[in-house]
Amino acid sequence: MYAEIVVDINHSAVDRFFTYRIPEALPVRVGHHVFVPFGMGDRLKEGFVISLKETTDLNPALIKDVARIIEPYPVLLEEQIRLARWMHTAYHCLFIDALACMIPAQLRGQRVREKTVMTVSVREGINVEEQIAIRKRAPVQQAVLRIVADAKEIPKNEVGKLLPGAASAIRALLEKGVLTEGTAGVFRAPDTPVLSEVEHELTPAQKRAIETIAQARSHSERNIVLLHGVTGSGKTEVYLRAIRDCIAEGKQAIVLVPEISLTPQTVGRFRGRFGDRIAVLHSHLSAGERFDEWRRIRLGMADIAIGARSAVFAPMERLGLIIIDEEHESSYQSEKMPQYSAIDIAAQRIKDTQGALVLGSATPQLITYYRALSGRYALCTLPDRVAGRPLPEVEVINMRDEFLLGNNSIFSDRLVELLAETFAKGQQAMLFINRRGYSTFVSCRSCGYVLKCDNCDISLTYHKSEGRARCHYCGATKPLPSVCPNCKKPFLKQFGLGTEQVEEALHKLFPAVRSLRMDTDTMRTKDAYNRILSAFSAGHAQVLIGTQMIAKGHDFPNVTLVGVVAADTTLNLPDYRAPERTFQLLTQVAGRAGRDELPGRVVLQTYVPQHPVIQFARTQNYPAFYQYEIAERKKMLYPPFSLFLRVVFSDPKEETVAKAALGYAKQLETVLRSALGPDGKNVILLLVADEAPIARISGQVRYQLLIKLLRTKRLPDAIRTIYAFHASQDFACASAQLEINPQELY
Ligand code: ADP
Ligand code: ZN
Repeated sequence: MYAEIVVDINHSAVDRFFTYRIPEALPVRVGHHVFVPFGMGDRLKEGFVISLKETTDLNPALIKDVARIIEPYPVLLEEQIRLARWMHTAYHCLFIDALACMIPAQLRGQRVREKTVMTVSVREGINVEEQIAIRKRAPVQQAVLRIVADAKEIPKNEVGKLLPGAASAIRALLEKGVLTEGTAGVFRAPDTPVLSEVEHELTPAQKRAIETIAQARSHSERNIVLLHGVTGSGKTEVYLRAIRDCIAEGKQAIVLVPEISLTPQTVGRFRGRFGDRIAVLHSHLSAGERFDEWRRIRLGMADIAIGARSAVFAPMERLGLIIIDEEHESSYQSEKMPQYSAIDIAAQRIKDTQGALVLGSATPQLITYYRALSGRYALCTLPDRVAGRPLPEVEVINMRDEFLLGNNSIFSDRLVELLAETFAKGQQAMLFINRRGYSTFVSCRSCGYVLKCDNCDISLTYHKSEGRARCHYCGATKPLPSVCPNCKKPFLKQFGLGTEQVEEALHKLFPAVRSLRMDTDTMRTKDAYNRILSAFSAGHAQVLIGTQMIAKGHDFPNVTLVGVVAADTTLNLPDYRAPERTFQLLTQVAGRAGRDELPGRVVLQTYVPQHPVIQFARTQNYPAFYQYEIAERKKMLYPPFSLFLRVVFSDPKEETVAKAALGYAKQLETVLRSALGPDGKNVILLLVADEAPIARISGQVRYQLLIKLLRTKRLPDAIRTIYAFHASQDFACASAQLEINPQELY
């Protein structure tokens, strides 16, 4: 027998299968992690068994033997190997990079070992009752014997937990030969609370959703379901029931949530329903915990895996259901090689395992809704909040009118009035300020000079608490000059809005009110994030001020007012997704108000109150927003009607990078046109190399090649050609990064 093996070396030169002979005595199976002799001097390298075969055309004298099996069980499922083959072609990644997504990093290179503990059990042939009877004077030993006999084999420290002071009794029993020692493997488990809640009677809409998911699981076509439900409409309850049905049939499920929502509360809610049959996979686990959670899934000890993006690869052998909550989140797209989308991976896996995929969101991606309306996905809608709770009432405030009436503060009169009302009632408010898009900068009112980073082509943001201006791209800071570096006049002033400024303005108006602030400055760690949220939840402050980070996550029953200080900042970003992102953000922020019994209010402050996106956000009317925006996209042939790819070139020297980018673009166009033939004219909508929107970051000059391709049958050919061309290029002078469907276009 022979094995086809991928060697664990990260290089395109060895990105293929190597044939090894399987010695008689080695029970090698597909998916096994093995050692094989490789390269000069036959040093042992790790590898993965991709397939087995009876014969080979190679010269038998040249074929080497598999040296040994590392883990006793195959670490990869056959289904995962098929997935890796698919990724290898679809994303043009190395085979080993695809496999690396599916196994914990700790397993490669043996950095983490399985953990074992000392156990005790009753020695064979010992009569337990007799031993207990003769130990009348030693009650602790009697108790230990009972515990050990009941458990058959039990870790020593667990006996100690059940019975303080057991250690010396155990020692005595071991000495007498009544107990014997052994070892057993244990699983390091992350600590999560168990939150139990009553099981609600399902609403008719929830019932329909569960039926649709059940249908999707039993039919092989249309096995993807879009669950479109406003915030608080009971989507999570639908997930929980669908998972239960899936498990009842002996299948397993994967649940993906955005990293930021992977809070103890979320996990606790699942644990409350499903107990120990849950494994959690996320980046904040220790290496040992992550390895053990993965192992529990692989060994069939868990039926449900919850995690962020990478959990989509969880090694479920009986996968029946994948749920992706908040499917519109950009974090489901990997930016690193392989640049996969968790949604595509999930779709591929359930096609193979004949399961179902549920995409949930209050504001689905346009492309997802487009596919649902065109019948490719099944569509379920949860149009109302549960228990008859109304959606919050949204008021749009025209800030231009405020200014004309002499109010030039950052809060409208109406927002101040509602804040005062909220505080008077002992309720809480959230103030949202979207700082994305460099809305804060320092500029000279006399000559217009804008303070910029020395390394990046980016205006600096003034941070009052530090008394310095900071670059949000490279982190460099500098003190604020007292006069303008350009005209030497003392007229430098900060423009735009930041969270610090909102906090300061709030304290001027309401000196007694306590607030918490959440933005990338105040929360460098996940811990800080959870600490601020729990402090707010416990009522230690009346106001939470933050950036998009506060738009999702926790439920705060006492929040009745949400103020969006400047609704327009994302609207003006130079990106075709700006309207979609703005609508998503505004809807999500608004959804934070009135989650519990108390009704919620939302105030949107804007300079463009008539803008369709603002109006649709006011009524929280997703279908109307969709119709408006999809028409715009069609007009401009933006996605979903096309696909963007981008190559970013960077180098310290402008000349080098420009030459590389322009040369690349010209060659690629020729290659692409000849590959596509006469269709090329229609498929290539755009192929231009130019300075990137941010022309310099950390001292590197940046150029970008933007490619826009029409979504037709020829699209896969076009993508393949581009990847192949990219791989064939030699970037000795400038570095170049190819991105498919780039999430940011700076
Ligand atoms: P979503 O995930 O859509 O934001 P959730 O599933 O978290 O909504 O539900 C919001 C709240 O409503 C939760 O507190 C949940 O326990 C409750 N809930 C869900 N379904 C029902 C129901 N059928 N009847 C009553 N309450 C429900
Ligand atoms: Zn910088």
